[in-house]
Amino acid sequence: MSQDSHDRADMTDAEFRMALAQVGDWVAGYREKAGSMPVLSRIAPGDIEKALPMDPPALGEPVAMWLKDLEEIILPGITHWNHPGFMAYFGITGSAAGILGELVSSAINSNGMLWKTCPALTELEQVVLRWYASAIGLPRDWFGMISDTASTSTLVALAAAREATGLNVREEGLSGKPPLVLYCSEEAHSSVDKAGLVLGLGVRGIRRVSSDMALRMRVDALESTIHQDLSEGRRPFAVVATVGTTSATAVDPVPDIAEVCKRHGLWLHVDAAYAGSAAIAHEFRWALAGCDQADSLVVNPHKWLFTPIDCSVLFTRKPEMFREAFSLVPEYLRTDVHGAVDLMDYSFQLGRRFRAIKLWFVFRYFGTEGLAARIREHVRLAQAFASWIDAHPVMERLAPAPFSVVCFRIHPRGTDDEAELQRLNASLLERVNAGGEVFLSHTKLKGRYCLRMAIGNLQTNMHRVQRAFHLICETAGLSS
Ligand code: PLP
Repeated sequence: MSQDSHDRADMTDAEFRMALAQVGDWVAGYREKAGSMPVLSRIAPGDIEKALPMDPPALGEPVAMWLKDLEEIILPGITHWNHPGFMAYFGITGSAAGILGELVSSAINSNGMLWKTCPALTELEQVVLRWYASAIGLPRDWFGMISDTASTSTLVALAAAREATGLNVREEGLSGKPPLVLYCSEEAHSSVDKAGLVLGLGVRGIRRVSSDMALRMRVDALESTIHQDLSEGRRPFAVVATVGTTSATAVDPVPDIAEVCKRHGLWLHVDAAYAGSAAIAHEFRWALAGCDQADSLVVNPHKWLFTPIDCSVLFTRKPEMFREAFSLVPEYLRTDVHGAVDLMDYSFQLGRRFRAIKLWFVFRYFGTEGLAARIREHVRLAQAFASWIDAHPVMERLAPAPFSVVCFRIHPRGTDDEAELQRLNASLLERVNAGGEVFLSHTKLKGRYCLRMAIGNLQTNMHRVQRAFHLICETAGLSS
């Protein structure tokens, strides 16, 4: 292949079909065996770099050689997020349908910056996002767009919020304006702070409002912080409420926060990156109560809707504010098409991948009832785990578990020093993870260190969760 591959532009059709079969075999094999590999990669920093050549090959190499290196060099350096024992951060799944969608999207390789540059990309995205909105109980007429991550979605939403202040920041910049202030709870994700930093608020322009014992934003604290900022000449402009906080999946009281926003004329952005998809099951619709009052909301299908990374959805009822913040059309991007959505007008990014295909395939494969059933199952598994923790004399739960994440720790009788408890639990976590069967992560809640069991992989079943509980007990020297 190497020498004569120079003679043609790309693989021949026959070569491509063969390569597709080889790669397809690898992918299917990987999916089958992922669960039997150590979930957390065991390599040391630099191992992969050392194993690979310094320079690319001068002549092309056959697919079999790429796959051999993939298997022998790359695979040991993979931490397997698609593993049934992956219970860290948020458990996720690149489902079969989603993987196929990624493949098709790469093959099409369209860039949806304008409607004209790929009409189907723009229109399928609008249709699938209407499906998604209606599946989770949001208004169907909200505008939606897909981007890579919730970090991007939140940044873009807060840029629109800044434009909605009427301070004309787009035209005049921030100089000479009253300092803008953004509010979120102390449990909000760091992407909110980063968005604030990019938007020029400075650390002092980002208020982290205290949370109650259930880790929900305290609305009285929000209200009093806003009053204080107003009295000191600052300009509150947006609140980010979280539906499913990163550490403990707490749900901020969105209806009350929406009231506060209405009273003070603030933009309400909801970060439902993880838990928003749960509302596809009717018994979890409560989680999005009040969100129809929001100005924008982010939810990530790549977290709990079985869609391969990356896929984040931003919904808004005020698309015109996004256009005001971002629409900028140089001559070379002008078209004569009227009455169509040009997605580049709603965000800072120009190019965009055809991510809607994988989400479309996911909906087509599972159906909304199938998706709801999987979500329910994950919650059932997490609730079972929570009940074992609650029943155990040496374990304790540190937060309510409304969805599929359980925060817990071992707490031996007589050991009440927080530093000692942290040392005990951090050491337990390290030893449990070293076994390779499961991968859990940790957090701190109200200053207390704890472990997190996060279920979100489609291959995780009751047996795996029981095994995880048993391993934790055994490693800690406790009976299970
Ligand atoms: N919001 C919440 C609540 C999260 O938990 C996370 C990540 O875990 C994010 C936002 C950021 O997500 P992304 O990696 O898509 O930017």
